[in-house]
Formats: sequence, C-alpha cells, structure tokens
Amino acid sequence: MFSVLDHAPGMLPADKPRYLMGVGKPDDIVGAVRRGVDMMDCVLPSRSGRTGQVFTRHGVLNIKNARHADDPRPLDEACACPACRGYSRAYLHHVFRAREIVSSMLLTWHNLHYYQELMAGMRTAIAEGRFAAWEADFHAARAEGDIAPL
Ligand SMILES: [Zn+2]
Repeated sequence: MFSVLDHAPGMLPADKPRYLMGVGKPDDIVGAVRRGVDMMDCVLPSRSGRTGQVFTRHGVLNIKNARHADDPRPLDEACACPACRGYSRAYLHHVFRAREIVSSMLLTWHNLHYYQELMAGMRTAIAEGRFAAWEADFHAARAEGDIAPL
C-alpha cells in the first residue's frame, strides 16, 4: 500500500481531497497521511471492539487475555473516554468473557475515541507544521508496548 501511496497522490489534482478506502490500522493511517491522504474510512474501531481488540497509544491489546482478569487499571490511563474513565480492565475482561453486549459497546466507544484523537492529533500537528515530530512521538509510544501486567 505504501509503495503505491508514494506515487499515487502526486498524480491526483492538488486542490482535491484524497480519499483512501478501508484503511485501517493506526500505523497505516499515519503512513497514509504522511503520503498525502486526507481522509479514509474503516470498520476496524467497531469490529475490533466487538472482538476484544483495543487500540491504545501503546499499541494493540486484547482484553480476552488472562493478564487483564484482575487488573484494576483502565485500558489507557491517559484516555478520556467514558470506558477508560469508568471501567477497569478486569471489568471489561469479565464482560467480554461473559459475552455481555456492554463489552462491545464499551470497547467500541474506546476505539472510536482513540481514532478520533489520532486524527485530531494529526490535524493539529499538520496545521502547526510539526507533523514529523508528532509522527516520531506516535511511533515511540507504540514501540513501548502495553503497560506491564500487575
Ligand atoms: Zn479509552
């Protein structure tokens, strides 16, 4: 995808928005924006939420994993979404394992909030002329990985 995006935006009118269909994972979105894509759409935040996959500043975690069963911490301590402000990993693990629909709702809520913050962060960084620094911070945070188990 990136090898195509290295060339395709230059062939498109400069005064028109550039849309990339069905993308994607956070790394793919950031890489696409770096290459000139303006907008995209994807089911991943909600589909992943329904399957227990959670996107955070530190990468992807799976709430199904036993390591979260007794963890009182939120999905992401820096996240302001209602799922992170009101529920622990242990609760989210329990309701996912119990197949409660609230699990899909809360994990999707978090993932959509994460994606909105991701896009807002890129928009602000581009407007302020500091996208390269923002991108470096994005990759550095993801390279740290999830917080250590308790
Ligand atoms: Zn959250």
